[in-house]
Parts: sequence; C-alpha cells; structure tokens
Amino acid sequence: MRNAIRPRPGILDIQPYRGGDSQVEGVDDVVKLSSNENPFGPSEAAREAFVKSGHALHRYPSSDHRALREAIARVHGLDAERIICGAGSDEILAFLCQGYAGPGDEVIHTEHGFAMYRIYALGAGATPVEVPERNRVVDVGAILAACTDRTRLVFIANPANPTGTMIGSDEISRLAAGLPEQALLVLDGAYAEYVEGFDGGAGFVESRDNVVMTRTFSKIHGLGGLRVGWGYGPAHVIEVLNRLRGPFNLSTPQLQAAEAAVRDTDHVARCRAENARLRAWLAGALKELDVPSDPSHANFILARFSDRQEAEACNAFLRSRGIILRPVAGYGLPAALRITVGDEASCRRVVHAVAQFRGKRK
Ligand SMILES: *Cc1c(COP(=O)(O)O)cnc(C)c1O
Repeated sequence: MRNAIRPRPGILDIQPYRGGDSQVEGVDDVVKLSSNENPFGPSEAAREAFVKSGHALHRYPSSDHRALREAIARVHGLDAERIICGAGSDEILAFLCQGYAGPGDEVIHTEHGFAMYRIYALGAGATPVEVPERNRVVDVGAILAACTDRTRLVFIANPANPTGTMIGSDEISRLAAGLPEQALLVLDGAYAEYVEGFDGGAGFVESRDNVVMTRTFSKIHGLGGLRVGWGYGPAHVIEVLNRLRGPFNLSTPQLQAAEAAVRDTDHVARCRAENARLRAWLAGALKELDVPSDPSHANFILARFSDRQEAEACNAFLRSRGIILRPVAGYGLPAALRITVGDEASCRRVVHAVAQFRGKRK
C-alpha cells in the first residue's frame, strides 16, 4: 500500500451521485420515471441536426460556441457574450465551485437541495453548509442567517428538485440583496421552462452583479443523453468560468443538436402544456388515493406517504410492476417518492398501481 498517495481533503467525503434506475431485473415492460426525462423526447429538428453533424466528425468543434450562444441569446432575449455552454449544467456548477470556492470557504445549499452542489463544493476543497427548508420550500431567512464572511456560493434550484416547489421573485430579490459582498447567488433553472412566462432568474442577472443562472437541455428539451447546459452571468463571472472551461468541452453533435433544440420553441411550448395537464391529473388522482404532494412547478411530483416504510413498500410494489420511481431518502425525504410526469399512459399506469398498492393494504 502506498499510503502516502492520498486525494485532497474532502474528496473522500463525496458520496458518488447515483442516477435514476432504468431497469428492473426480471421485468420487461418498464417505464422509467426516475430521472425527470421528457417523455416526448427531443425536437425532430434536434435529432436531424445531430445525425447531420456526423459528416463533420473529423473536424474539431467550435471552441467559442458562438452559434449556440447566439441562438440561446436570441430565443431568451439575452446577451450572447455573457453565456457559457457546458457538458450539462453540471459542468457549469463545477466551474462555479472551482472558480469561487476552495479550502476554508463555505458553499450553501438547502436541506433538500440538488446533490451536485455538495459534490462539487467538496471536489473544490470547500465546506458545504446545509440550510433547513420550511415545509420543503427554500427558506431565504434561514439562508441569510447561515451566511458568514466565508460564504462564497449559494445554490438554489427554482423550481427545486426533488421538491418541485418554487420561491417568488420578491424572495429571490431579498436573498440576492442580503448576501455578503463576497458571495455569489446561483439560480439553477433546470426546470425553468416548465413555468409559463418565467425567465429562470435572467432578470436578476441583468440587474445585479452577484447572480448567475444555469440552464439545461436535459429536461424540457429532452436531451439528457446529449449533455448540454449553459450559464448566464455578469461579465466578470463568465470570464472566470471561461478560463476553467476546456476549449473543446462540447462536441459538434452536441452544439448542433442543442442549437436546433433551442430554436424549436413550438416543441418546448407543447411539452410545457402537456406536462402541466398530466401533472395536474396525476397529482389529483394520487391525492384521491391519500397520497398528497406539494403543488409542483416542474416535470415531477414529490408524492408523500405516511412514513418511510410505506414509501419503500410502495416503491417496491411499483417496481415489481415495471414502474421505476425515485426514492429520495438521500435528500432527507425518506417518506416520499419522486415521480416524473410521463406520457398519459405512464401516468395512468402509476395511478393504477398505487391504487392496487393501497387496496392490498386495506
Ligand atoms: C436535472 C438537473 C440539472 C441538470 O443537469 P444536467 O447536467 O444539465 O443534465 C441541474 N440541476 C437540477 C436541480 C436538476 O434537477
């Protein structure tokens, strides 16, 4: 054993991220509702652009991502110079931690916040600080109370995962204005497109110099397998992140498919409308089975059971019928299961199976 060879402090505290399961042993007809994927898939134009890009694979990709940044800027009404693209929004979150937090620095995330915030904070050698939520909603007062002169980053997802809850712009405004001067607020807008008329926090990026927004092609654009995300921030921040970014962090197929996807605003609008319709139906039907959930603003609902045992039993019952949900005990929610809003047939299958589960126990 070469005990002298050790990773930097913090690395061994990382619990590797586990993606949603996609298979059940012995069951063929499986529906995966564990990773918040878009059941309708990507835009047809994105698929075509991806295939076409295969003709140029001997060439290095664009290093400045100009065409994709300009398409994003046009569709969202933003400044292309202050957009950075990455391999999923995860890569942008990693750049933020690398760029702004190190040993001795604190990175705030909330009680039920997305797992990657803690992982990237530890990866950078910083100290993650978990702040309580109030009934599964981000608590701005608690975040401000937890800030110290070592706080460098504050991560919140809005809408949040796995709770699906959201805080309003007054609360975001109070948070951004109340942070210590050395702290940057990161608004993770992975589910922003599911909220009609919501800019994901872009307005705060425009009006302040301490707010960054991250977005992804993995959710409403139906391109989780492609790995593209982006960030929008003040010039001084984007300049830092670009120094950390590898020159060819995105391949030509990624760039061209994402560009076609962002331009297809009709596809996004259709997916948003279908999600809202099916989410309301699913939440209502589960409530009638005594499985409540908070009003969700995203493409999943967090179904609550009476205790951990019941949630685990329901999860096992649904799995045996080929329905894969996401247990969220690791997010401090042992009595809940996260259910991605699938297509209509999947939603019906979930409700039918939960009804059977309930009947069996009565
Ligand atoms: C899915 C998700 C992301 C997106 O990750 P990608 O790396 O872009 O696939 C980011 N934040 C949250 C909260 C998510 O749920």
